[in-house]
Amino acid sequence: MAFFVDFELHKCSGKAAEAVQLGSKIGLPPDETPQIPPLELFHPSTSSGKKVDDLDTLPSVHDCAIHLELLHCIHRLRNEVQSSALIKCMGQEPDESKQYKETRALRWSVFLRTAVIRFLLWLEDGSMLPPPDILMVWQACLLNPVYFANLCIEKRCNRIRETPFPWDEIHAAIDFDRMSYRLTTANRERFEQQCGLASDLLSVIESGEREKILDQMSAWLPDATIVTTQSFPPRLPIGNAVRVLLENCIKASGYEQTVNDIAAAVDRQYSFVEKMEQHLWLRSPAVVGTLERAIERYKKFLKLLKWHKGVMLVPTLDIDLVWHTHQCAGVQYQMDMQNFVGAFIDHDDKLGKPILKGGETKTEELFRMHFDSEYMRCLCWDCEAIWSELERVRLSKQRLDKGKRRDMARRIAGLVSYYRSREVARKSFDKDPE
Ligand SMILES: [Zn+2]
Repeated sequence: MAFFVDFELHKCSGKAAEAVQLGSKIGLPPDETPQIPPLELFHPSTSSGKKVDDLDTLPSVHDCAIHLELLHCIHRLRNEVQSSALIKCMGQEPDESKQYKETRALRWSVFLRTAVIRFLLWLEDGSMLPPPDILMVWQACLLNPVYFANLCIEKRCNRIRETPFPWDEIHAAIDFDRMSYRLTTANRERFEQQCGLASDLLSVIESGEREKILDQMSAWLPDATIVTTQSFPPRLPIGNAVRVLLENCIKASGYEQTVNDIAAAVDRQYSFVEKMEQHLWLRSPAVVGTLERAIERYKKFLKLLKWHKGVMLVPTLDIDLVWHTHQCAGVQYQMDMQNFVGAFIDHDDKLGKPILKGGETKTEELFRMHFDSEYMRCLCWDCEAIWSELERVRLSKQRLDKGKRRDMARRIAGLVSYYRSREVARKSFDKDPE
């Protein structure tokens, strides 16, 4: 990267061995450990990134930060579903075979399709905070705005698109260090009472109790109870029995196509989840700056959409995060797009790489032309920390001589190392299930 620092910083400052004493080097008192991410990031009243001329409806730093939290929880949920222990209940020991890999994929597919059916039932009321599997499906549906709008008309539940996505309630249900999402007891009971569904889908499948599972199945499809009871294969390992039963249920429901379409939408969205997991901005020292810049860049992206209708514009990852966050607003997103862009902009996540590449090159060209700034950014922790520091220097109108530049470069390297070492510590206490 062509910054005016004296040595290459990009992706190279995370030397874990040096990081241990870095707290003092970045100016922290020895007994103080900063909260990572900072708590004020999630406080509704400190929704930064908004200016007076903005409509209040655009996503704030607070919304984007909670969105990131949710994506990390979805990543964890998928890991849990595919964990070795649970695959044993499908009658298979973990090994290196192709069959084992297929079982992992199958395991996810069973869970996901079950989640979609539960989502369709929850949708009928939709007034209570859903458990993680349903929340994941709801979010993926919102990211296919035109599809979801049509589905809601078909199922007469447009109210759900008018409901603001409950960012604060979601944040309250998330365990910060483990990055897992869990309803409170009160919310769990409310959900179970109103929907007649178990709140913890994973534990139902995991329990292996046929009665419990049958009970759930008939809650999904009262008319198909007989079909489901008859088709519960008694001698299969429980996981496989659930799979066979589920397939029969889906067929009997008449919603086969809908279930498949929505499950595919969740799977497409998962590649974005993985990218966010790799970047892990929430744990970086520059998280506030990263999200503020992403929002500013998203506003520019909206202007491009307005000025170049019909051109396929492709967002960068940071802009995409804000765009996805905005789409979670449902009807509000639709209205904002009418106001800002003059059209309902759908989000097509089915495009292949060659088409995306072409769109990306075009967007880069237009972005540079209109805003005289670079579109593609590295977005790693180091580069983001440098951007934040440069903005601070620009605002303070400081002049940097060679010595100050060198100090600044060292301070950034130390800061990033410190945050990396904190992340290593967090991960070593909390290993994800394999
Ligand atoms: Zn970088």
